[in-house]
Amino acid sequence: MSSTMNARHRPFVFINMAMSVDGKVSSVRREQLRISGVEDFDRVDSLRAGSDAIMVGIGTVLADNPSLTVKSEKRREERKKMGKPENPIRVVVDSKARTPIDAEVLNRGAGMRIIAVSERAIVEDVGRLGDKADTEVVVCGREEVDLKELLYLLWLRGVNRLMVEGGGTLNWSLLSQRLVDEIYIYVGNVVIGGESAPTPVDGAGFVRDEELVKLELISADKMDEGVLLKWRVLNHNCNRNHKGDIIELYETTSRDKG
Ligand code: NAP
Repeated sequence: MSSTMNARHRPFVFINMAMSVDGKVSSVRREQLRISGVEDFDRVDSLRAGSDAIMVGIGTVLADNPSLTVKSEKRREERKKMGKPENPIRVVVDSKARTPIDAEVLNRGAGMRIIAVSERAIVEDVGRLGDKADTEVVVCGREEVDLKELLYLLWLRGVNRLMVEGGGTLNWSLLSQRLVDEIYIYVGNVVIGGESAPTPVDGAGFVRDEELVKLELISADKMDEGVLLKWRVLNHNCNRNHKGDIIELYETTSRDKG
């Protein structure tokens, strides 16, 4: 963390995920499944269009190969009229610079991409990604990507509203470090099953009551054949490392409350 970096200097961060009734976000093969319907796809597109940046982990890029673009032409035009790029900045959290050069996120749609790597990344892989058009590679952290540093860097670049689209490993890191303001979960009318199928939040997990991330329900609305749940995170008060140990206590507030 730089000496001028303050825990409060980060965007408003929200997670958006779709899960099955049994709490899975994909299959045991970690392959994408259709969990939501047309109305929810449109809601997600609207959320993307209203964000300054969209972030995913490398696990999601490798499993789903998403482009993370705004699909509606009308919404892209509206962004342009407001003087914004037609797509939000797309951010991949990728310590070892494993993002494939032909990944959709690097090749589809206009706009800036940021690949956040750590000092572990091999120079050749970093160079390979940095050579792609509209792609910047930033180094944050030694082993894995230092998410606080990355959020600070995004904040410095004018990112006020950051949408996180998974997966569960990245979501755990953000939540356990108390870097998330709101969580939107679409619960689709399907059962996926499978003990090892990914969930909205994986990682090490909490073991004590006092560690739990506490939420307040904002809304619960029927959508398509499922339910959209919106939650506000309440206890922004401690910071943890990847294993879940408390390493510092502070109160985090973002610049823009959405
Ligand atoms: P992920 O969360 O997308 O990415 C995790 C990876 O990011 C880590 O393994 C690590 O890989 C890298 N990383 C770097 N720094 C990190 C940090 N500080 N904290 C956490 N991760 C860091 O991967 P995932 O958990 O495997 O999730 C992918 C699965 O979720 C897929 O099955 C996909 O289909 C599913 N998914 C579902 C939805 C939905 O809404 N239904 C949405 C998204 C994804 P390195 O060490 O190599 O950097």
